Amino acid sequence: MERIPLGRRRWFAAPCHLCNQDTLGSTGLCPSCENEWQALLGWPRCPGCATAHAGAGLGGGERCGQCAVRARPFDRAVAAVDLDPSARHLLHRLKYHQDFSTLPLLVATLLAPVNGEAAPDAVVPMPLHPSRRRQRGFNQAELLARGVARSLRLPVHDRGVRRVRDTGSLTDLAAASRRRVLKGAFVADGALPAHVAIVDDVMTTGSSAAALTRVLKEAGVERVDVWTLARTP
Ligand SMILES: [Zn+2]
Ligand SMILES: [Zn+2]
Repeated sequence: MERIPLGRRRWFAAPCHLCNQDTLGSTGLCPSCENEWQALLGWPRCPGCATAHAGAGLGGGERCGQCAVRARPFDRAVAAVDLDPSARHLLHRLKYHQDFSTLPLLVATLLAPVNGEAAPDAVVPMPLHPSRRRQRGFNQAELLARGVARSLRLPVHDRGVRRVRDTGSLTDLAAASRRRVLKGAFVADGALPAHVAIVDDVMTTGSSAAALTRVLKEAGVERVDVWTLARTP
């Protein structure tokens, strides 16, 4: 598989983001961790839900069995990697240890599957509830979205798109309970572009992205794509 450029040349050694060995690696990863990271990229994925799926690679763009039965409200979904232990570790460092030095690698990784997608009019970071944002100090989806937008020269549209209900962690909820909890969780006011891409760090079931998509479409957005860094396998 072709190697994807993920970083710029560096002049000083720093600890590898994944194994802590000193490295000059341009991505912040040592050569062996970078090889492993590269191997996570480029798997064929269902264009409907971004799950890795062999059929998506044959003849391009075949949807998985689940999406064939029940289409999601968003138009397309891409993810760069599966949420494997390395992706989990890098995101954990960003979210809970404010390690922003991982951001260039995460943004470059998120961009890998996005090249080749139709360019939206704007990117929309998955909003975080204000109380959670205060607690963490930042919204990781917004940091990723800003990096992606800068690189693609696209605007970030976050004004008026808000999470008004703190849903807490949805990880352990069944699909039906997630949908119930997410009802009324988002609002979108004001003028919105016709085609947007929601940017988020992780897609687990896709129910948050689906809920936000419904609200954006009710507010007049015609096409919503979802770009995530990591997909729960
Ligand atoms: Zn390493
Ligand atoms: Zn699918």
